[in-house]
Amino acid sequence: MAKISINMKEGDVEKESDVIIGIDLGTTNSLVAYIKDGKAVAIKGSNKEALVPSIIHFSKEDILVGDAAKEKLISDPSNTIFSVKRLMGKSYGDVDKVKELFSYSIIDDDTESLVKIKVGEKYYTPIELSAEILKELKKRIEKELDAKVSKAVITVPAYFNDAQRQATRDAGKLAGLDVLRIVNEPTAASLAYGIGQDAEIEQTIAVYDLGGGTFDISILKIHIGIFEVLSTNGDTFLGGDDFDRAIVNYWIEKNKIDEAKIASDKSFGQSLRLMAERAKKQLSTTDSFSATLDGVEYSIDKKTFQDLIQPLVEKTIDSCKMALKDAKLDKAAIDHVVMVGGSTRVPLVNESVGSFFGKPVNNSLDPDEVVALGAAIQADVLAGNQKDLLLLDITPLSLGIETVGGLMDTIIPRNNKVPARAGRNYTTSVDGQTNLKIAVYQGERDLIEHNRKLGEFILKGIPPMPMGLPKIEIQFILNADGILTVKAKELRSNVEQEIEIKSSYGLSEEEMALMLLDSIKNAESDMNARVLLESRNEGNNVYKSTLRFLAQNDHILTDEEKAKTKDFAEALNTTIQGDDKDAINQAMEALNEYTSPIAHKAMDLNIKDALKGKKM
Ligand code: AMP
Repeated sequence: MAKISINMKEGDVEKESDVIIGIDLGTTNSLVAYIKDGKAVAIKGSNKEALVPSIIHFSKEDILVGDAAKEKLISDPSNTIFSVKRLMGKSYGDVDKVKELFSYSIIDDDTESLVKIKVGEKYYTPIELSAEILKELKKRIEKELDAKVSKAVITVPAYFNDAQRQATRDAGKLAGLDVLRIVNEPTAASLAYGIGQDAEIEQTIAVYDLGGGTFDISILKIHIGIFEVLSTNGDTFLGGDDFDRAIVNYWIEKNKIDEAKIASDKSFGQSLRLMAERAKKQLSTTDSFSATLDGVEYSIDKKTFQDLIQPLVEKTIDSCKMALKDAKLDKAAIDHVVMVGGSTRVPLVNESVGSFFGKPVNNSLDPDEVVALGAAIQADVLAGNQKDLLLLDITPLSLGIETVGGLMDTIIPRNNKVPARAGRNYTTSVDGQTNLKIAVYQGERDLIEHNRKLGEFILKGIPPMPMGLPKIEIQFILNADGILTVKAKELRSNVEQEIEIKSSYGLSEEEMALMLLDSIKNAESDMNARVLLESRNEGNNVYKSTLRFLAQNDHILTDEEKAKTKDFAEALNTTIQGDDKDAINQAMEALNEYTSPIAHKAMDLNIKDALKGKKM
């Protein structure tokens, strides 16, 4: 499906695709995927590679991204930016200790807390730099589809904090993408393997992600379509680059290379490193490697390579142990192990992880593509194309509105099937009320203050009526894209109003899981709070109608009846100000007991009065 639009500025007719793309914005490499004929595929560039190196080169004339920029790492390192993901959402203080690792300048300009990168005379934020990578990916998919795309799902590491997630979102916006969702990388990887698609089955997953420069292990629990991150561990400076370095060091020793030569000749150092990477990759499928550089032969065999990296692989296993400990799980509790990242192609890595967890690992998909493929699946779910995938076909959290006293009134409960439509009638709580505020919330807690506000609007122009008389119908309509429309209509006057809310966008799976956990933890205190508020609301209504009754029947009631009724009403009013629900209920009962006979008497007299005026 594509719609045609006209670019008013250039007068071109543009095709706009409604495909939502999935993007893995990685430290070393990035890629984009989408669902083609029902299957997730990563888009390949002209070099037949799906991976776009996350590298940006600035020259006077233009900005290069990807392979072309990677070549400049050797020839023009100070204008070539890599690993920008490490700087996302970071302040100078955060990166001060590691800034030597970057060959470009990281600036602390004192005016903003977030770092900037100096290239030539210009300063760039990590967000702007990431946006360049995203623009390149956008270009790639637009070429493939021959249409513009504007919506994306982008993945981030599970441990990314709010600032880092927001920075990623902003980078998307800057690249002209509407980022519908930020998804955790391990969640996406599990999805790519189809894990978690059956909402009935509770499963525990370990996602082992060994990339070029980072290692992450995440333990996830998947339950009723929610991916909850139980724990994460890892090393932000451990990955395939360390394997390369180990080979370089081996060659330095074996070939007796003068270390001063490496220090002084940056391009020799880089060439040696690139050759080491080639050796490592080759050793994933063969038993030996050999090549020449500047007329010198360099070689290494598989066994030597494995001995070199053994301590590094062992370190990752230690992280797995710590992650399990934090999740309070034994390794036997892990149902699936999912392998992610280019370095999991190293056979020793697969074997070590498999033998640690005591089960075969999931590594049938391309470990470089698996996160992007999962992001594409998530995107397709958001686009409403995967109706049988339960994952997000249910509302992860309840949706409701605020009622008197700050109570959450759930209209569409959590785990409800999507699309969904539900409604309920409300009324006013004050005489002559002409406006009604409708505040929409998401969450499981009884008090709205603990839930997440999604939006609010005011139903205006209700004709003035006594409280309780207007009939206000509130309808929630949740479509397959997760977009919630809330409609309010006063049925006696047909005054109506509506708003559209993107219901769960912006909430990560962990945030949702946390909100759920909170609701369980606080169930008892919430329940008490709800009961108290309900008693207060009821007490308030009774108090108000008693005052109205007194005013309307002033001529009928005796002085004693009026005084006593007032006393009971004021006693009730006092309890309403307190926190004792039983006291409120008792005061209501006492008032009711005393006024009941008087009310009957008043009613009889009123009827007689009414009849008196009639001629029979
Ligand atoms: P990623 O950050 O996930 O893109 O992973 C990149 C890392 O995977 C780099 O260190 C690559 O050298 C490494 N890598 C890619 N292909 C292979 C392979 N066939 N064997 C070993 N390592 C590989």
